[in-house]
Amino acid sequence: MTSSNTPIASGPLPRRKSRAVAVSHGARTVWVGGDAPVLVQSMTNTDTADAIATAIQVKDLARAGSEVVRITVNTPEAAAAVPAIREQLDKMGVDVPLVGDFHYNGHLLLRDFPECAKALSKYRINPGNVGQGAKRDSQFAQMIEAAIQYDKPVRIGVNWGSLDQSLLARIMDENAARAQPWSAQAVMYEALVTSAIENAQRAEQLGLAGDKIILSCKVSGVQDLIAVYRELAKRCDYALHLGLTEAGMGSKGIVASTAALSVLLQEGIGDTIRISLTPEPGGDRTKEVVVAQEILQTMGLRKFAPMVIACPGCGRTTSTVFQELADNIQTFLREQMPEWKKSYPGVEAMNVAVMGCIVNGPGESKHANIGISLPGTGESPAAPVFVDGQKVATLRGERIVEEFQQIVLDYVKKNYGQETAESLS
Ligand code: SF4
Repeated sequence: MTSSNTPIASGPLPRRKSRAVAVSHGARTVWVGGDAPVLVQSMTNTDTADAIATAIQVKDLARAGSEVVRITVNTPEAAAAVPAIREQLDKMGVDVPLVGDFHYNGHLLLRDFPECAKALSKYRINPGNVGQGAKRDSQFAQMIEAAIQYDKPVRIGVNWGSLDQSLLARIMDENAARAQPWSAQAVMYEALVTSAIENAQRAEQLGLAGDKIILSCKVSGVQDLIAVYRELAKRCDYALHLGLTEAGMGSKGIVASTAALSVLLQEGIGDTIRISLTPEPGGDRTKEVVVAQEILQTMGLRKFAPMVIACPGCGRTTSTVFQELADNIQTFLREQMPEWKKSYPGVEAMNVAVMGCIVNGPGESKHANIGISLPGTGESPAAPVFVDGQKVATLRGERIVEEFQQIVLDYVKKNYGQETAESLS
């Protein structure tokens, strides 16, 4: 017998139980952890002191689908600009919660700029960058006290590049006392996890509730990130923010982030993600949002925008029409989503297939909501279109792209619109 008696299972492991953290602005609350879907975050790269440029980039990131946007708050000028950024966003109808990223002087900025402290929806604190020696504890405490005073959650974000040196020294001393000392890598993992958890416990001792704390331990190596988060997930029930830091540029950054995050997400670990891509010169910052959404959607964890299934093309594809059509439809669908989300609820679950020839074209097209099979080498110049498994049209000539786009639009209106099919006809 070659077949099994038990069905082949699919899907991620059960989600790790974590405390749910509310991140709010005005009437909008997004949840991180608990039963909430894995949240998509992003970060601006504008100078925060430039309130207009930052508000525009936050708006673009939110419009692309970022559910929380982080801005750096590094100087008095940046802190002073935060309320103006918030106000500008509110005027534009953008209610995405803003997170302030603080290092070194966060305790002073939160004290000296109370309007900034109020306008932010969450504070990110790097315990390795809050000061040295005795000052470290008091400055960390000041930031936690600000969070308590303004009723804000925090992310305690440990980073291998800026690990608390006194804690590292302590872990190294403990290691040296072992009969069989651990490797440098194991010491590094232990230091990261210990730093995150000890600082979270300290925040709780200072009076911040456990459901106001999110943890992260960012490293730049895929295997390091997986190892650290597996351990962090075991040792605590705080909500976890996942991200590979300094992932890099272009395909390397995307692949490394996807490799690391998908392993952890498949194991049920991670409540919010950010993809730290280095934009190409002149590149679009919103790419990091698209990549985060695509990781979650291709893993079946969330749905954000209709998916385009396209074959890779091969020697049987006759022209560039096939690539152009796939690209055109993908871009068209994504651009429509901010409006479609309101007018056509459920449209994000739609699948569109764009296939290059008869080998897999009709079969794959029939499985999608809408599919088109373009003619390959030696095939007659006709493109059959399938809607819900039925052939509904055959497109020919120069206007295939426009006509197929219209079929997609009609399908969306008919199947996801509030209006009836009759009122559209
Ligand atoms: S569907 Fe046709 S064109 Fe596309 S990869 Fe397969 S054989 Fe090639």
